[in-house]
Amino acid sequence: MDFAIPQDYQDLLASFRSFLEREVRPVEEFYAVQIQDDVFTEEMREAGLALRRKSAELGFYAAHMPESVGGQGLSNLGSALLVEEGAKSGLRFGAFVLGPPNPEAPNPILMDLPEHLHPKYVEPLVRAETTMCFALTEPEAGSDAQSIRTTAVLRDDEWILNGRKHLITNGARADVAVVFAVTDRDKRASGGITAFLVERGAPGFVVGKHQKTLAGDTNQAELIFEDCRVPRENMIGELGYGFASGMRFLNGGRAFIGAMCVGIADHLVRICTQYAKDRHTFGKPIGKYQAVQWMLADSALEVHAARLMTYHLAWLVDQGDYPIKESSMVKLNNTEMVNRVADRAVQIYGGMGLLTEGPVERIFRWVRMLRIVEGTSEIQRVIIARSLGL
Ligand SMILES: Cc1cc2nc3c(=O)[nH]c(=O)nc-3n(C[C@H](O)[C@H](O)[C@H](O)COP(=O)(O)OP(=O)(O)OC[C@H]3O[C@@H](n4cnc5c(N)ncnc54)[C@H](O)[C@@H]3O)c2cc1C
Repeated sequence: MDFAIPQDYQDLLASFRSFLEREVRPVEEFYAVQIQDDVFTEEMREAGLALRRKSAELGFYAAHMPESVGGQGLSNLGSALLVEEGAKSGLRFGAFVLGPPNPEAPNPILMDLPEHLHPKYVEPLVRAETTMCFALTEPEAGSDAQSIRTTAVLRDDEWILNGRKHLITNGARADVAVVFAVTDRDKRASGGITAFLVERGAPGFVVGKHQKTLAGDTNQAELIFEDCRVPRENMIGELGYGFASGMRFLNGGRAFIGAMCVGIADHLVRICTQYAKDRHTFGKPIGKYQAVQWMLADSALEVHAARLMTYHLAWLVDQGDYPIKESSMVKLNNTEMVNRVADRAVQIYGGMGLLTEGPVERIFRWVRMLRIVEGTSEIQRVIIARSLGL
């Protein structure tokens, strides 16, 4: 067993780090006041998109996509390492310049579109010229995703979609949406749900209200389909098997959300350790108190364990495995871990931990959503328990 990170990945990470420092940090510093106020203006988004296009040109942004559509065909492990590196930087714009785990970014599920549509839809996403969204959740169906009510009926040469999605990340801006709809009411998850690629301008495709969360404007919206017409060829994969491909994608992407949690937690441990050395009370740095040392020791330990679980999961995926149990374990462990680490970070920073001008308050609020999105912690426990035969 070899735990060393292969040299070519180390070189890739070094070159990505240098891109972050050279290109991304100056933009981050320029918008420091807005970032501190948790504002993300249209101008900042434009600046982020320009950085994203540079990242795409350099081969970082969509490295996880196959070479046939302009990606690098990077392994799951290599991609997870990149995601961790981006998150470790602590840069708000860091999330903008990498594809995974952002649902705006090109998603491997698109490779199931007919091949002649790849240049039209997939390649512009890989070049960061367009963005997408992944529209599964509905007001009446979140964890129980197979209960979705959106329907798709084939009429002549078009699919007619009717229904409503909500909490869709990038829903209001996406150029294309991957939309899940029922095509056979009786079969549902077993051959009755199909995925479609819907263009933003499709007749009957309406963006509903913007939805703000505890974490600020995280870019969620409602999507409404009213007799929305979609070309027959825009079906993704096989008729009735969209649910299975959607789950395959969510599962395959767990190493990325896991790696992001590791990177964020690593960043927090680093800044908290420095703060514990600098901040003095009763004539001593607070890092000399066992109470503070133990918080940091626990966080460092948990980051290490989460990192090993993540690399192992990525490695399993690279072996061609379909590791449902390990995927759920990483999603559950790492999202809960980063919340504990962020909570300790607020405690270590004291009053400064709660101030919006401090470096941890925004992160504390943001990581809370990770225990809900892409399958709640409870649903991950259900899946793990099922793998035990329960
Ligand atoms: C910021 C954000 C971004 C999102 N982005 C997207 C996106 O891009 N695309 C998309 O399709 N969706 C997206 N979602 C939706 C997200 O996937 C759902 O919110 C999530 O799956 C939970 O579904 P729900 O909100 O309907 O909660 P519910 O399913 O109603 O769950 C409510 C509570 O009951 C618990 N529960 C439910 N069933 C069980 C069970 N069997 N056993 C034990 N406990 C259970 C849950 O764990 C939870 O605690 C996003 C959500 C948020 C907050």
